Amino acid sequence: MMKKGIGGIMKRKTVLFATLAGCLFALLWLPVSGVAAVSPIAGLIQDAMKVLALEKGGEDLGVLTNARYVTLSDKTTEHYITDIENLTGASMGKGNLLFFNERPKDSLLIIVAHRSKMQCVVIRFDGTQGETKFLSLKDSDLRDSDFFWNATLGASGKETFNIVSIISAWFAGAPYEFMHCVELHGHICPGIFFGYFTSKGILEKYPLLRGEKYILIASPNECKDDAFQVLLGLTPGKQNLIVKPVDKRLIKQKAGHYATGILIKWSESKQSGLGVVLSIHFDAIKAAIKMDFGQHSSRNEKLLAARKLTEHLSEYADFFSVEKEFTVTKELKNELMRAGTNPYVLLGMMSEIKE
Ligand SMILES: [Zn+2]
Repeated sequence: MMKKGIGGIMKRKTVLFATLAGCLFALLWLPVSGVAAVSPIAGLIQDAMKVLALEKGGEDLGVLTNARYVTLSDKTTEHYITDIENLTGASMGKGNLLFFNERPKDSLLIIVAHRSKMQCVVIRFDGTQGETKFLSLKDSDLRDSDFFWNATLGASGKETFNIVSIISAWFAGAPYEFMHCVELHGHICPGIFFGYFTSKGILEKYPLLRGEKYILIASPNECKDDAFQVLLGLTPGKQNLIVKPVDKRLIKQKAGHYATGILIKWSESKQSGLGVVLSIHFDAIKAAIKMDFGQHSSRNEKLLAARKLTEHLSEYADFFSVEKEFTVTKELKNELMRAGTNPYVLLGMMSEIKE
């Protein structure tokens, strides 16, 4: 009887303890599940983390999303960012919550990635329903290009490339300022590297003195120009980034180089400046990554080149080059900036094109 009595007390104590513990657990758990329960993307993200065996806040976890760029049913999507942060523990400050600029409609995309496994789950959410796709992104997984690029996501190969290229740069540990260029541009390509190398070279070789400002003639007009906006703070709207398309094949430049633009380091007080025709030593880039690639390379080749180039971001000084320097008067500045003037013809680096 005594034993039974003690057992009964023990059982009651255990039940009481379990109940108290249950209440405490519920109190601790509810705020977290409360967030998860109200978010329509909670189940999708939790499933993705399960598939990738990722813990909230884990070192290998990264998230890429077009939230705040896309709209769903004419509503902006920035509030999903809070859900993503609460569910995954990723944040901008930690460098593992990344964004990419996409047209202001279509689906909300959230890519949950595992860095050391080089795997990700792509979540596509239309506002009410979601679908997920698993992707393994090791170099060896990218061989069957038709299948990979056109079929894996069930979307256009272009979108797959955008997602995979950006996630790949994060896998490779690209610095935040590079990822920021990529966010604006929306994908990774040789051009965004050229813009990064050129901007870093400008900041190092031509630092601004008091009262000076940069004006950049973005010509030829290419992907690189988006890096100028991010790293140099220049924009077409502020009229310090002047975008002028020209045929780059006609520019007389050093062999193996690509002209990337014309910098004017301008002094307002002196009303004069230094002009610099900038280029990228493309042959040196190809030598550094031991790989030949160009505009006509396949998506696989471009991605592999981008992965290798990411490891050489700090070597920008080896790739940044100057074709020529010249003095800029107010008249020359105005003429270089003027619509209809081909700046390379003006500087004697291209023959006049007869129509
Ligand atoms: Zn591009």
